[in-house]
Amino acid sequence: MAKIQCKMCGGMNELREGETSRECTYCGMLTTFPRIDTEQREQLYNRAEHFRQANNFDKAANVYAAILDLDGEDPEAWWGQLISKYGIEYVEDPANHERIPTCHRVQFDSILADPDYRNALKYASETDRSIYEKRSAPHRGDTEEYPQDIFAGGALRRLHLLQRSRKRRTHEGFPASAGHLLSAHEQGIEGLFLAHYIGR
Ligand SMILES: [Zn+2]
Repeated sequence: MAKIQCKMCGGMNELREGETSRECTYCGMLTTFPRIDTEQREQLYNRAEHFRQANNFDKAANVYAAILDLDGEDPEAWWGQLISKYGIEYVEDPANHERIPTCHRVQFDSILADPDYRNALKYASETDRSIYEKRSAPHRGDTEEYPQDIFAGGALRRLHLLQRSRKRRTHEGFPASAGHLLSAHEQGIEGLFLAHYIGR
């Protein structure tokens, strides 16, 4: 059995042969997994996940690209490349323990038009395709929490979550008000602002 990390929580899951989606043993989220047919592919995926979970998105993208060099029809590698491009970190929502995709990188084009996204959908099985689509739908309620900024509503909510999570991890204080975050963005501070986002 192949052992592959869950891309949401990093938990190591054992996959049955041919199994490409199920609920993670650790975080319980329904997610896709790569088709593992060789030891080389298993090693490459674990390497890519290692980098991505450390928020080392460039190195992760390089490994996904290497997988695509071997097999250009691997949907999970297209997806991995996509979420590396958007700098996705799956942050646990303390309210319900769901993993919320949080972007570290600004992308101004819609994910739905992204070639990596389209390839992931194109080569995925029907079941996996519906999971990808669900994960890329806008997050309902994003703009309700911060209605003053419809465009950035989702971004701010996720930033908020990310900062709360960081605060727990590091015991450092972070400004967490929407207004403060928005002004940080307006000042051009790099990093944690989400323009277009992958929802759940
Ligand atoms: Zn998981």
